[in-house]
Amino acid sequence: MLIPERPFASYHLWSLIAPAMGQQNCHCQMRRGFIKARQHEPIVKILSAKVTSSQRIGILAQKGVYEFHQNKQLLKKRDGVEKVTKILNLNNYTYIVRQRVLEILKNYHNAPLLWGKRIIQLTRGDEGFPKPIIIEQDLYSFRLYAAMDCVLTNPSGNLHILDFKTGKSAFDVRQALVYLLAARYLYPKKQVVASFYNLESCKKSDLIIVNEKELNSVESKLACIAQKHQQDIQKYHEKNSNFSKIFSPNPGNHCKYCPFNSICEFSAHPN
Ligand code: SF4
Repeated sequence: MLIPERPFASYHLWSLIAPAMGQQNCHCQMRRGFIKARQHEPIVKILSAKVTSSQRIGILAQKGVYEFHQNKQLLKKRDGVEKVTKILNLNNYTYIVRQRVLEILKNYHNAPLLWGKRIIQLTRGDEGFPKPIIIEQDLYSFRLYAAMDCVLTNPSGNLHILDFKTGKSAFDVRQALVYLLAARYLYPKKQVVASFYNLESCKKSDLIIVNEKELNSVESKLACIAQKHQQDIQKYHEKNSNFSKIFSPNPGNHCKYCPFNSICEFSAHPN
């Protein structure tokens, strides 16, 4: 008998299962179905692999910050932005991507948020899946994936997890909660806070601080999400034709931006 793998949870899965505040109308479970249940189908694979301009800008912005801190001289030099532009091969991208990333690099060069900070982790942003954290309690067990952009330490040894954003979407506190839960396992006994920083608007979020009880509740919420998702995947594998019953569609204007609108029979904006 095939033993089912331990279920997993991540911020991405949480955001696919439950909408962010104010996003209820454009939230569609079928997108989760395409991404997580049908991801091996060739056409789904191709559509999922397409990187939108917004995603590309996010990846390049993170890489830009990483490069500035790989060689801190670049932050002091007048031509630092130009040099990082070359490292990122920015000329290979569309006009809109080039312009927005250039602005981000200029912003960062003018006001480098991490300057003088003790950085213990700064990712390039294209490392792929991090190693899972295994969470085992009496009532549940799951793998937690949490890819942190940046972790800082202050002189007292406390940690600060920082997530970089681009674009206009609001900060989703759930992402910070997932990081804070991961930090409980990765850095036990440390006091940890989290926050967001938008590299385009240079806007900082408030510090997000939670207590043990709140972290316990985040953990059991994620355990439920992991279990529900695993059950949905099992149901789909038992009967593929039930796809739209398991992952119900929610067509609307948002279908215009859905990567699967060309193959989704419910799309309000078929391509
Ligand atoms: S095209 Fe619309 S209905 Fe279909 S998966 Fe995407 S968002 Fe959902």
